[in-house]
Amino acid sequence: MKFLTFSEDNQLLAQMITFLRSRGEVDAATSSDRDMPIEYGAGVVYALRGNAQYDSISAALKNLFESSGYDAVVIASTVLGREVAGHLSVGIGSDVAPELSSLEFKDGKAITKRWGYGGKTVIEETWNARVFTLLPGITDAEKNGSESTLKDIQLGDSRVEIISEEPKNLGGGNLESAKIIVSVGRGLGKKEGIEVAQKLADAVGGEIAGSRPVCLDYQWLSEDRQVGLSGKKVKPKVYIALGISGQIQHIAGMRGSKIVIAINKDKSAPIFEESDYGIVGDLYQVAPKLTEKLAA
Ligand SMILES: Cc1cc2nc3c(=O)[nH]c(=O)nc-3n(C[C@H](O)[C@H](O)[C@H](O)COP(=O)(O)OP(=O)(O)OC[C@H]3O[C@@H](n4cnc5c(N)ncnc54)[C@H](O)[C@@H]3O)c2cc1C
Repeated sequence: MKFLTFSEDNQLLAQMITFLRSRGEVDAATSSDRDMPIEYGAGVVYALRGNAQYDSISAALKNLFESSGYDAVVIASTVLGREVAGHLSVGIGSDVAPELSSLEFKDGKAITKRWGYGGKTVIEETWNARVFTLLPGITDAEKNGSESTLKDIQLGDSRVEIISEEPKNLGGGNLESAKIIVSVGRGLGKKEGIEVAQKLADAVGGEIAGSRPVCLDYQWLSEDRQVGLSGKKVKPKVYIALGISGQIQHIAGMRGSKIVIAINKDKSAPIFEESDYGIVGDLYQVAPKLTEKLAA
């Protein structure tokens, strides 16, 4: 098998190269200059230069796919990645197998796993698709001592016209590759409560995230920190949920976490069913105590 893999996030790209290199040859394409993933086993890393929009990127990937004999294009499932995958699949006349947590090939067919019903079930399928999106955190990125050849590709025109750009205040966070996440829910009650969670995140060297009400409805955190079905899919080693009830749409984004610790004042909150450790209590009492112990 010969794979072409793409992400605009080079940490995710490094994970996907690591994942795919044991399944065949792999080349990678990225639209970001930051931390080029050239030591993970890709033969070629294509640096896509210019106006990196879903359509200009998918046109470049289509050219590569058609000219270089790739069997499959594997894209990280980010917002941009999903747009690129959809556009590319139409361009090359393929299905797209989306949001995969597992991807293997047998007798020319892909055997995949993805979550169904918001994360309650695992669906195993076979596909003839050539385009796949992988969930972030498919594996840990591991260098393999090789060095990729770097090639520049100039992107063509895009139908997207940028009228103005404003930097988002993202705080530099990268949830998809975070090892520890402190996530807050509506139980926080007020925006000022973020400080309590931030202190805990700082004490454990973690990133801060939130449920949809916190990120979208109340905007106590930026939207790109939302975890869940319509937010980021995360796979940290430790996920600490403060004042999150554990609705299925939230669980869909954090089910891949290795250890889940929940603090909730309602002992029947569904989040406890997903948790390895649960503390029934007021987060404003419990979180500062945890912070104190963990910072010590
Ligand atoms: C199509 C669709 C997509 C969605 N996508 C997402 C998504 O991507 N991500 C997402 O998160 N949601 C998503 N939702 C919304 C989801 O259904 C829930 O409404 C949401 O997850 C609830 O967020 P929450 O747990 O913060 O709030 P709530 O459900 O209101 O829970 C708050 C919790 O805090 C506890 N609490 C209150 N005060 C305290 C305190 N002082 N100390 C400790 N605990 C306290 C309460 O007991 C309660 O369990 C989606 C919904 C739909 C329909």
